[in-house]
Amino acid sequence: MNAHTPDNAGSGRRDRDAVTVYALTAGAEPPVAPLSGDWRGDVVVVGGGITGLSTAYHLAKAGVSVAVVEANGFGWGASGRNGGQVNPGLKHEPSEIEKTFGPDLGARMIAFSGSAPDKVFQMVAEAGIACEARRTGTIRAAFSAGSVAFLERATADLQRRGAPVEFLNRAAMAAITGSERYAAGALDRRGGSLNPLAYSRGLAQAAASAGAHLFPQTPVGGLTRDADGWTLTGPKGRLRAGRVILATNGYTDDLFPGLKRSVVPVYGGIIASAPLPQAMTDRILPGRHVLYEHESITVYYRLDAAGRLLIGGRSRLRPLHGPDRFPDLKRYTRRLWPFLGDVEWTHGWNGQLAITADHYPALANPAPGLMACIGYNGRGVAMATAMGGELARWATGTDANALDMPVRPFKTFPLHRFWPIGAAIRIAYGRARNALGI
Ligand SMILES: Cc1cc2nc3c(=O)[nH]c(=O)nc-3n(C[C@H](O)[C@H](O)[C@H](O)COP(=O)(O)OP(=O)(O)OC[C@H]3O[C@@H](n4cnc5c(N)ncnc54)[C@H](O)[C@@H]3O)c2cc1C
Repeated sequence: MNAHTPDNAGSGRRDRDAVTVYALTAGAEPPVAPLSGDWRGDVVVVGGGITGLSTAYHLAKAGVSVAVVEANGFGWGASGRNGGQVNPGLKHEPSEIEKTFGPDLGARMIAFSGSAPDKVFQMVAEAGIACEARRTGTIRAAFSAGSVAFLERATADLQRRGAPVEFLNRAAMAAITGSERYAAGALDRRGGSLNPLAYSRGLAQAAASAGAHLFPQTPVGGLTRDADGWTLTGPKGRLRAGRVILATNGYTDDLFPGLKRSVVPVYGGIIASAPLPQAMTDRILPGRHVLYEHESITVYYRLDAAGRLLIGGRSRLRPLHGPDRFPDLKRYTRRLWPFLGDVEWTHGWNGQLAITADHYPALANPAPGLMACIGYNGRGVAMATAMGGELARWATGTDANALDMPVRPFKTFPLHRFWPIGAAIRIAYGRARNALGI
């Protein structure tokens, strides 16, 4: 059954609009109603985030009858709450990917994940989505000696493969970030940023315009299969289709046995400031790059189109609202930019993202006609967009082994029920390492 966080049960729209800064400028959701009665078609997608909506957009454009069923509003999950960083690549470096998956699939995975930002910016242009999309590049930043050495190696490897990446030394990092914190960085010109709620709602609009059927506020509580295909049960209706795609990521519940235990749904938190004066934004990220730290605990930040500073990192493991709930992030901005002074923090929120045991997305085909795609390990804006195209290929008959990401049985975490304890220890350990600069 549904395991949505207690604060938003039955009030997803209010919860989301109250907490993220993105709702200030995001366009409206398409005017669609919850499922009522029976629907029958080719494909049902469960989960109305970037994965589900991108899949539906691709399928509807190909003339396939597809429905997306979402327990809350479209973009309510991580897709409408994330940092808005459009980052290339997977969590693992290309050389590791090749080593693990071999030269054929490995090369396809590298090309696919490296070009995932292209798919986002193409989608924005093609569907005319107003979401403040900017392709200014992603910086990976390091302050510990180990991470500096890692970035040097990773940059050389990416350059050898033709990726538009450059290594930045301490002086270059100070100029590009306005902070003395970093010993080195790597600027990858493939990345960028957008307003993720505006993007998600724009995808929903584009999918609906292409002919997809969207059912918000419809938690799917039952999933069964018989000789005719799959039946999904909502509170006020049923859907039937030959193929089902589960795109529920960090909000995966017990709908399909064992799937929930294949990911750890950690929380990430973000705070946003009021628009900063231009004199300040000219010092912080003057090139409007997005940045994430390659350290024990990832902190990431960017400026939005209005000059607000958005900074995010790991959060306590429960829903939190308001900037005062994230004192560590506020404190860290003073460490990064001591000249910042008193900033007015207007918004703070968190959300759940899915981590897999091996840090590769869990793309699984555990029953005939059913595919699950979850676990982007914090890289979902670009990857989920791109995976929508792959899931649509599978749903229209492409063999699972021909996809550009590996379809594997999902691996469940041992002792999964203790994940909150494990995650809390991991955060404390990572913070201690970061504080010591190791
Ligand atoms: C705070 C935070 C910051 C992040 N920052 C970044 C970033 O800057 N860049 C980046 O690339 N990635 C980032 N991520 C990760 C990224 O947001 C996700 O990987 C991506 O949005 C996943 O999209 P999705 O569609 O798969 O899942 P989600 O957007 O989480 O959507 C899943 C949906 O499934 C629905 N659902 C679940 N169960 C059911 C059911 N039984 N019936 C119906 N509906 C159901 C939920 O309501 C939810 O809306 C961040 C995540 C968080 C939480």
